[in-house]
Amino acid sequence: MTYAELANKGILTQPVYEPGKPIDQVARELGLDPAGIVKLASNENPLGSSPKAIAAAMRALQDAQLYPDGGYYLLRERLAKKWNLGMDQFVIGDGSNEIIELLGHAFLAPGVECVMHQASFVVYKLVTLMFGATPVEVPLAAGLKQDLKALAAAVTPRTRLVFLASPANPIGTTNTEAEIVELARALPPHVILVFDEAYAEYLEKAPDLRPLLAEGRKIICLRTFSKIYGLASLRVGYAYAPKELIAIVQRARQPFNVSAIASAAAVAALDDVEFVEHCRRENRAGLTQLGDGFAKLRLDYVRGEGNFLLVKVGDGVAVFDALQRRGLITRPVKPYGLPEWLRVSVGTREQNARLLDTLAAVLAPN
Ligand SMILES: *Cc1c(COP(=O)(O)O)cnc(C)c1O
Repeated sequence: MTYAELANKGILTQPVYEPGKPIDQVARELGLDPAGIVKLASNENPLGSSPKAIAAAMRALQDAQLYPDGGYYLLRERLAKKWNLGMDQFVIGDGSNEIIELLGHAFLAPGVECVMHQASFVVYKLVTLMFGATPVEVPLAAGLKQDLKALAAAVTPRTRLVFLASPANPIGTTNTEAEIVELARALPPHVILVFDEAYAEYLEKAPDLRPLLAEGRKIICLRTFSKIYGLASLRVGYAYAPKELIAIVQRARQPFNVSAIASAAAVAALDDVEFVEHCRRENRAGLTQLGDGFAKLRLDYVRGEGNFLLVKVGDGVAVFDALQRRGLITRPVKPYGLPEWLRVSVGTREQNARLLDTLAAVLAPN
């Protein structure tokens, strides 16, 4: 008997997640100096992390011999205050990705369907397949807009989860609060809407689904400290939802799924409002800088509102390779069915300028 024959079926159908390559790996592979490499591949914060969050993490490191508070009391208390919700409406995850997996443990099994858009965040599909459930992928509308009416129309009696992100990744486009409310109200009572807000802090005004929670809609909202808060390496995210839903997700979680270091950093990051505002402003400027630059190069791009843009470059993988040889790591989105496009994270002003210059050189007819 082979291991493959012994393994659970869902594991074998897992597509392999291809993360943005780490700088050191690219340096090794191409014989480049890591100091000269810029990574604009994983939507990380080019401005680093809040110094207050890092100081809190260092303090927490002093007690590394102790298990964390597995209830994450301080973080949930801080979140409850921020959102004006009950502490029992929050669950903390090892990144918000873990919470997607916890939803799988709690709600997915063979025979169940999960509805999502084509070219949506790959983890939705990975988790669906891992639990033997069936992903149902809904086509995007013109201009790579997410079509929430089509999403609602794809729901069947077998649907358990509907995944939606706004801004979406990798496409970057948003849906209005009105559209999302309409979707939530259209879903039948056997369906949970998983609203992924990984990039919500980059918006001037993010959709607020708390009134829908209050009216008893089945919704869970996912947030992360990996993006605007700049703590991707520490792995911490959270979700808020009706307390009955949170109680079930809590059961699927390991007792100490997030380190005390990460949770302390998260509390301090929430308090550093200035850092977040600064990052939001710089990101806006970066989106404009990149968008104007793409337009000048006569490249079509999607007017995304996260901390990244999708730009149409022809052969996405070839341009990705050429940029990488020049020390710029970006993300080809061919695995998402978008072979002509490249996803570029917003960097610092200098990094954005270098990306645009290098892109011009790579695309110039020789
Ligand atoms: C980056 C991202 C996340 C966050 O993942 P973490 O596990 O919190 O690092 C979640 N959803 C989407 C769509 C993302 O792009």
